[in-house]
Amino acid sequence: MKLNEKGLLIVISGPSGVGKGTIRKALFKRAGHNLDFSISMTTRSPREGEIDGQDYYFVTKEKFEAELARGNLLEHAKFVNNYYGTPKDKVMEKLKEGKEVVLEIEVQGALQVKAKMQDAVFIFIAPPSWEALESRLVNRDTETSDIIIERLNKAKNEIMFASSYDYIVINDEVENAVDKIIAIIRAEHAKCKRALEGYYRLMEE
Ligand code: 5GP
Repeated sequence: MKLNEKGLLIVISGPSGVGKGTIRKALFKRAGHNLDFSISMTTRSPREGEIDGQDYYFVTKEKFEAELARGNLLEHAKFVNNYYGTPKDKVMEKLKEGKEVVLEIEVQGALQVKAKMQDAVFIFIAPPSWEALESRLVNRDTETSDIIIERLNKAKNEIMFASSYDYIVINDEVENAVDKIIAIIRAEHAKCKRALEGYYRLMEE
């Protein structure tokens, strides 16, 4: 048995447009990790280039509501007219297998996970400035101007919840942010509470 048998649940969250997706993708490109991405379910339509079952599970509102009613979602949120949620069973299975599971979700969902899974690690991705967030949302050119305004209004609220997280990582440079996240994951594994749990299990065998 390995020392740290139980996987870590890592929640990467923060306002829309802050670059969570870019950071997460860059994190997964780094070699030598044991990370597994939790693919969310959404009722939003796919953007150009997005693949069903890879970026999201794109589902109808009816299907989403049915999954929610069956208790199959670990968390969910309505975000600017669409539903988003994390399929529960897959996350739990992967954690049991000892994998590090990464959720990339907005703030309401992160707070729900925090209420259920105190052991998870919560990382808030913050923009270097308000202007940077605004220009990212406008320049990525994936939403209409009405939706951009709604997302920016939402971001103002979301930033107020940063203090509920364990860590804050400012997205000044993507690779910099990835370095910090890797350092956080390493430090979390070395925390006495976590490391000793595995150690005591080892001693009991
Ligand atoms: P987008 O439409 O830009 O892909 O996502 C909108 C927001 O929903 C982003 O902040 C994204 O991180 C978040 N999101 C994606 N998947 C989930 C999920 O499963 N649960 C929650 N709560 N938010 C999610």
